[in-house]
Amino acid sequence: MLRLYGKIFKTGSLTERVSPLPKTISDTVMKDEAVKQAGHRLKTIVDKRFRGSLAIREVDAGSCNACELEIHALNNVYYNIERFGVHFVASPRHADILMVTGPVSRHMEAALRRTYDATPAPKWVIAVGDCGACGGEFGVSYASCGAVANVIPVDLAIPGCPPAPLALIQGLLSLCGRL
Ligand code: SF4
Repeated sequence: MLRLYGKIFKTGSLTERVSPLPKTISDTVMKDEAVKQAGHRLKTIVDKRFRGSLAIREVDAGSCNACELEIHALNNVYYNIERFGVHFVASPRHADILMVTGPVSRHMEAALRRTYDATPAPKWVIAVGDCGACGGEFGVSYASCGAVANVIPVDLAIPGCPPAPLALIQGLLSLCGRL
């Protein structure tokens, strides 16, 4: 905890000034294009290997919720990941992939193991964010198991604090592409 406070005081405020307009129109167009390209490649793989429908169960195993905000953004009208055949489901029993944010707090350890056991095989696990990938700022402590891989097998880690929606789409693409 002291390490965390030390880092906060040393780092100071990183808040960026709000710019009234997007940096340039070409930045926005390039981002649109990157989302479209990654999404269409993902859809091709989902159509071929998952009969057009890939189901994800999201599990918050102890995150600060910023990773969740980026994951939720995948369902907004801009990213609209459902158009690529990817759906978030309410039960691990309906899921192909578990998308887990961490660090895994001790009181979520048993629940995460049970969620993993309840997911039908074949199943894959994505650890989202630096906390999920390696424990992040919190590491392993009396309250935290650290990385998701310390509790259940992980197939892919998407780093970032938090990772942007485009990075999540690219992560899904890389996992599905190598299955
Ligand atoms: S990786 Fe960053 S945003 Fe995600 S849960 Fe950890 S501290 Fe929060």
